Amino acid sequence: MDIKKDRVVTIDYNLRDAAGKLIDSSDEAQPLVYLHGNDNIIPGLEKHLEGKQAGQEVSCVVPAAEAYGERDESLVFKVSRKDFGDNAEISPGMQFEAHGEDGSQIVTVVDIAGDEVTIDANHPLAGEKLHFDVKVVGVREATEEELNHGHVHASGCGCGDDCSCEDEGCENGCCH
Ligand code: ZN
Repeated sequence: MDIKKDRVVTIDYNLRDAAGKLIDSSDEAQPLVYLHGNDNIIPGLEKHLEGKQAGQEVSCVVPAAEAYGERDESLVFKVSRKDFGDNAEISPGMQFEAHGEDGSQIVTVVDIAGDEVTIDANHPLAGEKLHFDVKVVGVREATEEELNHGHVHASGCGCGDDCSCEDEGCENGCCH
C-alpha cells in the first residue's frame, strides 16, 4: 500500500542537523505514527514519503522553509521578569511552552538583564536544514474517526470520552 493523503503511516526515523548531530529519533519500541496529508508532520518530510511503501527506506534533506521555517528575528523580544511569576527560576537557555492563539509553542530564554528577559519564540529548529533517515514500517487506511479528527488514534483509544481532542489537538496524550 502506497503512502498517500489520509492513510496512516508508521515510521522509524533519525533526525540530524547539518553537522550530523542527532537531534531526534523515534524510539525503537515506539515508532512514529501519523496521518499523512493532515499537517501532522513537517511538509518537507511528507513530500519525500509520498508514494513509498512499508519496508522502504528514505534518506532526505529538508530545507528550513519546508520544516520549521526560517528564523524570524522579530520573534526575539524582551519581556518583564514579572511575567514569569514571582518565584520563577529562569536562566538563559531554558525552554518553556507558551500557549497562544495558534496553540502552544516553545520559547527559549536568551538573556536576563535585571528586570528584562529576552526571549526567542522561534521554533528551536527554525532555520535548520534537517537530515532524515526514515524507514517506513507500515501503511494502513485511516478510520473515519481519525479522518474526522485529522490525527491518528492509538488502538483502544476511547477518544471523545474524557478527552478534549478539539481543544487540545490530543496533545494531552489521550489519543496517542
Ligand atoms: Zn482524536
